[in-house]
Amino acid sequence: MYAVLRIVVTALTFVATASPLLAQTSPPPIVKVDGLHQISPHIHIIPDNSVPAVPNVGFVVGDRAALVIDTGLGPPNGAAVYEVAKKLAGTKALYLVTTHVHPEHDLGAQAFPDTTKLIRSTSEVKDIAEFGLELANDFAKRSAIRAELLKGADFRKADITFEHDYDLDLGGVQAKLTAMGPNHTGGDTIIWIESDRVLFAGDLAMRAQPAFASPHSSLRQWLASLDKLEALNPVIIVPSHGPTGDGTGFITGYRAYLTEVRDRAAAEKRAGRSVDQSIEAVTAAFGERAPDKARLAGAIKVAYAEAP
Ligand SMILES: [Zn+2]
Repeated sequence: MYAVLRIVVTALTFVATASPLLAQTSPPPIVKVDGLHQISPHIHIIPDNSVPAVPNVGFVVGDRAALVIDTGLGPPNGAAVYEVAKKLAGTKALYLVTTHVHPEHDLGAQAFPDTTKLIRSTSEVKDIAEFGLELANDFAKRSAIRAELLKGADFRKADITFEHDYDLDLGGVQAKLTAMGPNHTGGDTIIWIESDRVLFAGDLAMRAQPAFASPHSSLRQWLASLDKLEALNPVIIVPSHGPTGDGTGFITGYRAYLTEVRDRAAAEKRAGRSVDQSIEAVTAAFGERAPDKARLAGAIKVAYAEAP
C-alpha cells in the first residue's frame, strides 16, 4: 500500500496556525521536493510539513498528460516543482492549476515553460485583476527570504480559463476542476480525482481553522461548498496546507465550526450587540477550541455581516 501519513481529525479540534509575526522564526518557505511520495494510483504529493507559506503540491499523472496542483512561493520554488513534474511525467503534456491565487499557490507559475498549460477559473482571473500583487508585496516585507523568492514574481497569464467546471482527461484518469466561488478567496478551485477518490480541497477543508482572507469571502458560500465537497465522498483530502485527511473529517469539522460561528454571531446581532462585542462574546464561547483568534474573529465578522 501507499505510505500515507493519515491523520484523523475530530470535529472542532484545530491547531494554531502561524501568524505573520511568527514568519521570521519559522523555517524558510521552500518546497521540500525530497518529501515527494505516492498517495494513490495516479497521485503524488510533496507535503508542506506545515511550514507557513508553503503549499501541499500535487501531481496527477495519466497515460497522456499530467496535472500539477500549486506551485510554491515564487519562481525558485516553481522551478523545483517543475523539475519534479518532469521526472514524473517525462515527455507527457503538462497542465498546471492553482487552488487559489495567493502567492505560495500561484506565483511560481512563471518558472514553468510556455508548453505547460496554466488553467484558472474566471473568478481567479478576477481576483488577480482586483488585488494584483498586493498580498505578494505584503509577504515580501515579512522576511528577507520571502522577498528573495518573490523577486520578479508576477502572475502568468492563464492558457485555459473556465467558469464553473473543467474536465481534464489525462489519459486513463480524469481530473475535475470546479470553481467554488468566494470562500477563502474571491475564487477557490478544487480538484477531484474520482478514480482515486482523492480531493484537492484548497483552503476549503484543512486541519487548521478556516481563513476568511478576502473581502468577498462568504460563510454562507463556504457552508454550501462543504456540502458539495462531502457529496464527493473522498477517501483522502489533500488540503492546501497541513496534513492530508482521511475521509470527510476535515469537512465535517469545518461545518461544525462554521455553523457554530454563524449561529452564535447571529444570536449576538439579534440581541443588539455590536460586531466588536460579538467577537468578544463568541471568542470567549469557543475558548481553546479555536486557538487561532485572528481567524476566528475574521469568521465572526463575516457571519455578523451575513446574519439577518
Ligand atoms: Zn491562501
